[in-house]
Amino acid sequence: MKITKVEALILRPGDIENIADSTQDAALIRIETDEGIVGFGEADASPSVVKAIVESPRSHMLSTGLREVLIGEDPFRIQYLWDRMYQASTFYGRRGAVLMAMSGIDIALYDLVGKALGVPAHQLLGGARHYQVRAYASTLMPDTPEEAREEASRLVDEGFTAIKFGWGPFGLDLDRDVELVAAVRDEVGDGIDILLDIGFTWKNHIIAARQIDRIAEYNPYLIEEPLPPDDLVSYAKLREISQVPIAFGEENTTRHEFVEIFERRAADIVQPDVTRCGGLTEMARIAALAEHYAVPCIPHAWSTGIVQAASLHVNAILKEPVFLEYSVRTNPLNQELVVDGVDVAGGMAQVPMGPGLGIEIDEDAIQRMTVQV
Ligand code: MG
Repeated sequence: MKITKVEALILRPGDIENIADSTQDAALIRIETDEGIVGFGEADASPSVVKAIVESPRSHMLSTGLREVLIGEDPFRIQYLWDRMYQASTFYGRRGAVLMAMSGIDIALYDLVGKALGVPAHQLLGGARHYQVRAYASTLMPDTPEEAREEASRLVDEGFTAIKFGWGPFGLDLDRDVELVAAVRDEVGDGIDILLDIGFTWKNHIIAARQIDRIAEYNPYLIEEPLPPDDLVSYAKLREISQVPIAFGEENTTRHEFVEIFERRAADIVQPDVTRCGGLTEMARIAALAEHYAVPCIPHAWSTGIVQAASLHVNAILKEPVFLEYSVRTNPLNQELVVDGVDVAGGMAQVPMGPGLGIEIDEDAIQRMTVQV
């Protein structure tokens, strides 16, 4: 089997608001073979940047667009192709957006090879250790305590036993931060886990520590990204004094960046995103390192049904999975692109057992939402 076509499609169903919701557009990777088998993946990065990284012509041997590396190759050689893409982009890549583009391609290769063999992606990764994983409902923090109560109550009624509120007004008013969390805890009672994503809006680790002291009485499961992702010095200091576990990692790519986080004891929990960190191939390596360093891994996942499915295949192979992140934002990209998406009834996600990612992509929806730039 040979790879004959690699596309990076920009999906954008509507206008883009300046809010922390990356589901407003998407970079979809579609790989075709000479045997007619098609694989889909997603890169959760700026879609126009991903398209350029995939389609760029060769500049020189170590500065080559990713498509050129893949055409004519055997899609079953996933690790070899990962190394080739990494090497061919050495001069402009190694981290960041290139790894995100590689993530989309790597996921599409697992989808394609899984379909060719008739096995789910997790089977290609060594086999499932789990067939269901607890899901947390993930959404933006509303602007007022009243709205936060309403949203929390609605999600509990839908069957979720854990909810994450993030970004939105966090950090604008330190007293309001506490009021919002207090309202959610009061609304849902003690039986529901509450996760908080601060969107690195607390100005330094001392302010963060004080805020955590105030919020701790509402018993949050974790505090996500209280500080900017590169500030590992402050993360290490905060971790030493925080009463609540500190989590981050969604912007980090490659095992090299995660080893630094582990070595510097900067996180209690890491949150690599399979559509950013380097795909299923690199995620499996990061997960093995996390296990070695005894740091729980709760994959970040916030975009279409493709990342939800890919992230669930990751959770399936973790020794001790904690949560699938399940975005409950409703927009065309996470409602229409995947026809038969991840089942989270009762707050438990069922690991897909169909070939590849185990989901069906609606080709008509791709046509409808693809924009030309
Ligand atoms: Mg986050």
